[in-house]
Amino acid sequence: GSLPGWERVDALVRDAHEHLLADRDGAVADYIPTLAAADPELFGIAVVDVTGGAHDVGDAVTAFTIQSISKAFVYALVAQELGRDLVGERIGVNNTGLAFNSVVALELNDGHPMNPMVNAGAIATTALVPGATAAEKWSRLTAAMSAFAGRHLAVDQEVYASESATNDRNRAIARLLRSYDRLDGDPEEIVDLYTRQCSLLVSAHDLAVMGATLADGGVNPVSGEQVVSDAVSRDTVAVLASSGLYEHSGEWLLEVGVPGKSGVSGGVVAVAPGKGAIGAFSPRLDKAGNSVRGQRATARLSRALGLNIFASR
Ligand code: GLN
Repeated sequence: GSLPGWERVDALVRDAHEHLLADRDGAVADYIPTLAAADPELFGIAVVDVTGGAHDVGDAVTAFTIQSISKAFVYALVAQELGRDLVGERIGVNNTGLAFNSVVALELNDGHPMNPMVNAGAIATTALVPGATAAEKWSRLTAAMSAFAGRHLAVDQEVYASESATNDRNRAIARLLRSYDRLDGDPEEIVDLYTRQCSLLVSAHDLAVMGATLADGGVNPVSGEQVVSDAVSRDTVAVLASSGLYEHSGEWLLEVGVPGKSGVSGGVVAVAPGKGAIGAFSPRLDKAGNSVRGQRATARLSRALGLNIFASR
């Protein structure tokens, strides 16, 4: 089936926002200095359906850096360009069961990063973006991310500078990948591209449009552009199901029943294939780095909208 009628969806999005407004559980990320300064009270929810219809509530158009949610869309770009088999072999699609920035999974698997949604796998995926130079890769990468959003996305220079000055762990991960001969190109250059992709500014509304593009067989329902193929978009959603919320992916799937992706600035997107997507933003996080209120609002809305992909009716 499809989503309930427009009025009903609108009322349910408002209800989810109102219901969770007073929820202050969790803590803002502090390992990237500028993220620690985020206003923890911000809270926005957006729903975009596969016809392009949109519902925005609260701080739904407030800009924040996309962070790890970029991993889903860079994976889609690379799978589109190089094919799912090559990416599957080089990066993998299994959950690590470990934190997003862990080096342990690499050490246990001969340097194989396991999946594109943790930092090691995402850095190795960014290395596969086509382009002879870093500038060419960056232009491919931003063009794809912008096509998913249906508008030009810009970098938050302050967050980019702040993370660049403090990302020793990601640089170590890139060096470690390189030591196993599992990273193409210069580790510093690749981490720089990865840090920039994480610093692209989006809103909850943008996330909903980006997710709705994956829900709509790779066609952006607002711009009408075919951004990636139907097969790539299906594969991307499958990868999100197993690892979109890192070591909490199983709990998320049980609670929300819809594949999703989170980021440390507090964004979360849930993709309901054939129906649409929910974008949410709230900076307070749980221990795994996932927005607490974003997850709870998405779970409530998924139940109310009947999105659970495992439900028979
Ligand atoms: N840029 C962040 C990092 O690499 C993204 C992590 C995240 O959102 N979980 O640490």
